[in-house]
Amino acid sequence: MTVFQQFDRRFRDLHVPSAALDRLVTGCRWAEGPVWFADLNCLVFSDIPNQRILRWTPDALDGGGLSVFRAPSHFANGHTRDRQGRLVSCEHGTRRVTRTEPDGAITVLADQFNGKPLNSPNDVVVKSDGSIWFTDPTYGVLSDYEGYRAEPQQSARNVFRLDPDTGGLASVADDFNQPNGLAFSPDERQLYIADSAASHDPDLPRVIRVFDVQGAQLSNGRNFCEIDSGIPDGIRTDIFGNLWSSAADGVHCFAPDGTLLGKILVPEMVANLCFGGPRRNHLFIAGTTSVYRIILATTGAQTP
Ligand code: MG
Repeated sequence: MTVFQQFDRRFRDLHVPSAALDRLVTGCRWAEGPVWFADLNCLVFSDIPNQRILRWTPDALDGGGLSVFRAPSHFANGHTRDRQGRLVSCEHGTRRVTRTEPDGAITVLADQFNGKPLNSPNDVVVKSDGSIWFTDPTYGVLSDYEGYRAEPQQSARNVFRLDPDTGGLASVADDFNQPNGLAFSPDERQLYIADSAASHDPDLPRVIRVFDVQGAQLSNGRNFCEIDSGIPDGIRTDIFGNLWSSAADGVHCFAPDGTLLGKILVPEMVANLCFGGPRRNHLFIAGTTSVYRIILATTGAQTP
């Protein structure tokens, strides 16, 4: 099977044409939220409808390398790590963002805004100053499949910034249909945010927008790219500033100028991805029932 499609010669420097797509895990219902723990040599990811967070280890001695990290997971979706290495998680079921402390205790970072419950936090990223940025679309309250059906109480589907010093929550964008994955450019001067609203209405956006980051604010929002297969969900940047997006047919790679450089074709719909491995050149891909890995010729920008 052809794994790579190249549309621009710049893609040549980013991939190894002979590299194989490895299926590491299968049997999930909806794999999401992969995050790499270099210090523990493992990948942690969500299986949202199955109410579990799983852990895969490449060289496990105790049977297959797959174990349950946490269950029930409160329908956890996206994860990242903060600058102290702690796991930060979005939970649909409890409609909150949490941090897992080194002793396993759970700290609630955000569960309401303007005195009302959040919709269903979806994905999260941490900036080098410790601020936590996350999206709050309604996917987790639309049905009982990946959360608990409920009427949204927020007036918008916000993108939020959690202040690392005060813990205060501020909306930094309120004009998304369904904000989803987010990723900073390597210099953190730009923030990319996916709008995946076409998931439920083909007339709505399937775009990734980019904003200028000025302190705690976003400005100059504009469309960066449109996804030509399915929707953009989780996204990541590499050290050269290329953006790697999930899509229905696999993973799409965009140059910083928005040009589609190439694709990694995956036999299942992709919801999220992350860089990891000993040299951060392994791309872990959460694709519906399975988690895949492919080794690239580029390196993830953010440590998690
Ligand atoms: Mg998502």
